[in-house]
Amino acid sequence: MKQSYKAKIAKRLTFVTALLVMLVFGIIYLVVDFTVVDNIDRELEIETNKHVGQIFLANGEIKFVHKDEWQEQEHQEIQLNPIFIEIVDLEGNSMDKSPNLGSNRLTFHPDWKSKEGAWTIKIGDQELRQKQMLLKYEGKEEGYLLVATSFEDARELLNNLRNILLLLYPGILISLFFTMRFVAGKSIQPIQKIIAKTNQITQSSLDERVPVLDQEDEIGQLTKSINELLNRLELSMIREKQFTSDASHELRTPLSVLRGTLEVLIRKPRTSEEYVSKIQTALSSIDRMSSMIDQLLALARVEKGAISPKDEVEILSFVEEVAEQIQRETGREIHFHTQESIPLFVKVSEKSLQMIMNNLIHNAIKYSEGTIDLEVKYENGKPIIFVNDQGQGIGEDSINKIFDPFFRDQSALEKLIPGTGLGLAIVKKLAQESGIDVSVSSEIGHGSTFRLGF
Ligand code: ADP
Repeated sequence: MKQSYKAKIAKRLTFVTALLVMLVFGIIYLVVDFTVVDNIDRELEIETNKHVGQIFLANGEIKFVHKDEWQEQEHQEIQLNPIFIEIVDLEGNSMDKSPNLGSNRLTFHPDWKSKEGAWTIKIGDQELRQKQMLLKYEGKEEGYLLVATSFEDARELLNNLRNILLLLYPGILISLFFTMRFVAGKSIQPIQKIIAKTNQITQSSLDERVPVLDQEDEIGQLTKSINELLNRLELSMIREKQFTSDASHELRTPLSVLRGTLEVLIRKPRTSEEYVSKIQTALSSIDRMSSMIDQLLALARVEKGAISPKDEVEILSFVEEVAEQIQRETGREIHFHTQESIPLFVKVSEKSLQMIMNNLIHNAIKYSEGTIDLEVKYENGKPIIFVNDQGQGIGEDSINKIFDPFFRDQSALEKLIPGTGLGLAIVKKLAQESGIDVSVSSEIGHGSTFRLGF
């Protein structure tokens, strides 16, 4: 069964309150019970002491200090507040008892000679509190005085209290549950507004934001987080759209060249040289498209997180090997140097690092003519790779954009240096996925240095 959040809050709070109220009610009942019994026992004590001073047993005979006075007193007290008295000998045989006991007898415990306090007994359906006192005459134990008083009123009071508490308990809990449900409902109203607003936001209205009601409270912070998430989503949507439009534009250019070349070719018969030259133009357009598609696929693979697992790569020998390999393939001079002599291990995907290095070194080859330097350093306990060229350098306007997809510097376009503008975008993605920090510093006319920090 689906349960609303406000009902859940109300249930939890009611459960906790139920335990607390039960505890408080229990304490109230016990305190009242103790006070009432204590009061009765104190009265019984006074009553017993009074009678002990007036009655004594001497050689198995009951004697009164002032018999008339005692009888009168007892008579009066029986009317107001029934006191039950019984005198027993040491064996517990009844010697005399007050008339209000009728044929009943009070309880006698032969071993409770000096028992303090009183206890509850039942005579018929009447509850009594009873005390027992040892009677001595001239130092000799003669018998016992048993005194009891009615517990009926106290029992009625306690029963009433118990019934009231038992009735109040569910009543309090039920009203508490509904009050809390109402209050919880009021408290989560802003959340319902957020739900309604976020439900309205679709792909086409990603620029809308959820209004923040109170900046300081948790709901305000939740709203801010949702808005920040919407900001990021909107930004990535814009980037995605930009990327798609850039990609189609970049693919359309070689396609148009290809189509134009073929149209020119079929317009009229050509010489074989013309055919060769036009077909070469067409082939270079196809090459450009296919290299762009390869790079787009590589980028898509990195974005999908299809990154190869991390290996322990020894950086010094790895960079040296890359330098040698690319030097062999391209014939360009690539210098590797380092001051480090101890092997440096890093945990990184070797395949990704290979792709990053290939891209950076091939760019250095494309955009410079001199020697390319690769250096490995150990800084603040972490290895760093530098890829340095002495080429044209990158202007201030472009340096922040070179990692954007399809960005190509004006000079690269003017000099007709082949490229797609995707290489550094792939480097950035791969570096992000592999936890490598990539940065660049460059000076026009003096070359560029790309830095990979682990
Ligand atoms: P591409 O090389 O295919 O154009 P990249 O993404 O690799 O694409 O590079 C983006 C741009 O950054 C290049 O067009 C170029 O202008 C600039 N760039 C990259 N590397 C260098 C470099 N080593 N020296 C100068 N400019 C560079």
